[in-house]
Amino acid sequence: MVPIGIDLGTTYSAVATVSGRGQPMVVKNSDGESTTPSVVYFPANGIPIVGSEAKEYQAVGENDVASFFKRDMGEPGFYQTFHGRKYSPTELSSLVLKKLKADAEAELGQRIEAAVITVPAYFNNGQRNATIEAARQAGLRVLRIINEPTAAAIAFGLSSKTKAGTTTMVYDLGGGTFDVSIVRASDDEIAVLATDGDHKLGGKDWDDRIAGFLAGQFRDEFGADPFEDQESFNDLMIKCEKAKRELSVRDSTKVSIVHNGERGTYTLTRSQFAELTRDLLERTHGIAQSVLNSVDGHTWENLNGVLLVGGSTRMPMVAEFVEEVTGRPPLRGINVDEAVALGAALQAAADLKVEDDLSLDASSGEEFSLPAIRDVTCHSLGMVAENQDRSKYLNSIIIKKNSQIPAENACDYTIRVSANRSANKLEVYMLQGEVESPMECTVLGKYVFTGFTPTKTGRAQVRVHYAYNKNGTVDVRAEQLNAEGGVLDLELTIEPVPEDMSWLGRSPLENDSSASQASSAALVIAVDASGSMSGTPMNEAKKAALSMVNKLDLSRFHVGILAFSDKMAILTGCTGHNGVVKGAINKLEVGLGYGNDACPFEKAMRMMDGEEGSKFIVLLTDGCWSYPQKAIAQAKRVKDEGAEIIAIGFGTADHDFLKTVATCDENALMTDVSNLVDSFSKIAQVLSSDDAPQSASLTMPDGNETKPTGKGKGFFGRFF
Ligand code: AMP
Repeated sequence: MVPIGIDLGTTYSAVATVSGRGQPMVVKNSDGESTTPSVVYFPANGIPIVGSEAKEYQAVGENDVASFFKRDMGEPGFYQTFHGRKYSPTELSSLVLKKLKADAEAELGQRIEAAVITVPAYFNNGQRNATIEAARQAGLRVLRIINEPTAAAIAFGLSSKTKAGTTTMVYDLGGGTFDVSIVRASDDEIAVLATDGDHKLGGKDWDDRIAGFLAGQFRDEFGADPFEDQESFNDLMIKCEKAKRELSVRDSTKVSIVHNGERGTYTLTRSQFAELTRDLLERTHGIAQSVLNSVDGHTWENLNGVLLVGGSTRMPMVAEFVEEVTGRPPLRGINVDEAVALGAALQAAADLKVEDDLSLDASSGEEFSLPAIRDVTCHSLGMVAENQDRSKYLNSIIIKKNSQIPAENACDYTIRVSANRSANKLEVYMLQGEVESPMECTVLGKYVFTGFTPTKTGRAQVRVHYAYNKNGTVDVRAEQLNAEGGVLDLELTIEPVPEDMSWLGRSPLENDSSASQASSAALVIAVDASGSMSGTPMNEAKKAALSMVNKLDLSRFHVGILAFSDKMAILTGCTGHNGVVKGAINKLEVGLGYGNDACPFEKAMRMMDGEEGSKFIVLLTDGCWSYPQKAIAQAKRVKDEGAEIIAIGFGTADHDFLKTVATCDENALMTDVSNLVDSFSKIAQVLSSDDAPQSASLTMPDGNETKPTGKGKGFFGRFF
């Protein structure tokens, strides 16, 4: 297979291959050019046109032209519409890739199935996945995604016999993006030590400054704003980009603005241009400085040089600026437009060699080899966690910025699990960013894990893994650890990140209470009224029920009271009226027959018909029932309908029977009559808190205890 590297640029893209003799070379497009504008024109009828022709349509003021879509890559919900059809940045990129593939196939006379594609180093998971998807849509298999500065370093490392052990800064200023990396190159390894960038900073910003300046002059002269008319605007932008290029070779240039039937011609000098854009260069300086600072022991003085990559580094001000900062001119000897594609092609050749599918000319006698590439993560990856006192959410970093790729790390959580499998879920919000506040980080993804196995203790250990793979995309998985040391993979659903993440700005406690207010629930207290309950047991049962009701927020919980023995009596249906519930509890008395023939579960369930939210039955009994099988079958039916049964026994009650009717073993409790009040109060407490968003306690690998969050709404707790 022929090795192909593709530099999918914001403004221009390029394709390269490796010759039979192992030399990287650019593959010309159908116009004989080494770069292709990443521009798509959509004619009213017919197929989209990509490249120089599309750029020409843009130049003559056509509106149905898409460009700069790489800046919005991976942004959910971002579309551009042409002739009534919506196109995502991924689809637009796939059109560019299709054109690059077709042109390269024609030039090389071979089918192209796979390629190494480059992306800016700071591209996040979503942006990288969007790039892989664009390639798939264009019929290309991605051998690997590599970072643009890394590709440039590969090209440079191989083309100029770099001495072993030199450390270089790759300063990559393209059309729409800025990337900077510190790269250490030796004969057998190219290692990226640190990297950062700004994906909203590139040559286009320099164009915009010229446009803003000249449009201002036009406004002053004619009182009309060329920005207000799409055609005048497009025309102006094209002219400004041209003027910028001219200023790379001349001291001054002229630009004519035509708008509203008027024409204004203005002169722009190189020094004016430098003045207008000085702050943009300063921004690149700030980023470069911080990357340099992040590598121990490195200063501008001991760098071996600064390698300029990207079309915008042709602006003389960039080289002057680098010289000003470092005291030395930048490194030369590399074609700034082609370096990235050339490096990608070399990587493709290395990857195909590993796949044993490289069609280089064996007769050349040269064994093709590439130094090992070591790249690093550009951002820290973490997840939303809670601090100890639950007063704020934190960004708990799992994989640190500048970790060597592939990078993997895992965190252990303790979470509460319900016996009701379907109610158990853990929501992991992946964060990208270096700061502690999640509000200032980017939420990259929402990963929902289900399939927990209920445990006897009602608690489960969960390990969440983050893995940066060689493409810089992140795989997330989680497993439940059982007491015997076994692991169970949890099922993962990736959900869209909710648009409203404002809950991160409140405290976990505040969120709990607002969720509590929002969620309603129903509860039936079913009390054994058989003869053996007479006297102290019934008095204690009443006190226990009252203490429970006192602890519940009745605006949320509707409570019903049911007495049962041989018969059943509904003392009140489910209500939020405090007086009614307490009055019903006071009416509890022995006298519905002596035995335990009746079975309260279905009656209790029907009492909750029409109620919203979670449904609970709290059963209190002091003896054995006449028809336990019937009770077990009924209990199963109501549990299947979604009710949670908590069974409390004392006296001659049978613990095993209680376990069978309860939702899980932990929901069955044997106590004694003097502890009833206490037990009911505890249940009330758990009911009040457990219907709130679930939170789990996360133990970071270094042993720091912190609390991560899932904002799961489902009931997620155990009682005892
Ligand atoms: P790239 O994305 O690396 O292809 O860079 C494209 C950017 O480089 C665009 O903003 C171009 O306007 C800019 N560019 C290309 N050639 C020159 C030049 N000679 N002088 C100034 N900027 C240039």
